[in-house]
Amino acid sequence: MVFAADSMLGRLARWLRVMGHDVLFQSGYDIGDLRRFSSEGRIVLSRKKSLMGEDIRLIFIRSDKVREQLIEVDSVTGLRKCATEWFSRCIECNYLLEKADPEGWGEGIPEYVFYNMRGKIRRCPACGRFFWPGSHRKRMEEQLKKWGF
Ligand SMILES: [Zn+2]
Repeated sequence: MVFAADSMLGRLARWLRVMGHDVLFQSGYDIGDLRRFSSEGRIVLSRKKSLMGEDIRLIFIRSDKVREQLIEVDSVTGLRKCATEWFSRCIECNYLLEKADPEGWGEGIPEYVFYNMRGKIRRCPACGRFFWPGSHRKRMEEQLKKWGF
């Protein structure tokens, strides 16, 4: 399932990325962009009622709370409940994370992580951020479970 999230849905976009979904997001798309995304197979997520008459693949999001928004998307598409797919994507850039090349390690990774998380460190090819299973990720996992995912 691939999406394009309209402005006002930044938090939803990030949580969908946490769950491993491909979600384009920027503040403000014009209708031409949305038509193009739709023709490319993306589902447009928007809170704009005015889009409801347009000929695009649209999920009109009613709630302004992120948990309810996720449930709205889930009720139409069926989101990934599978935790193995979670955390496979950069939350900022939407790129799939890659196994970190040992040559590129060093700056940006604390020493204890370097030694304890070998083989579990991933890197975003776009922004260069490193990701590894840690307390931040655990908190997000717990949040998703609490929300019923
Ligand atoms: Zn990134």
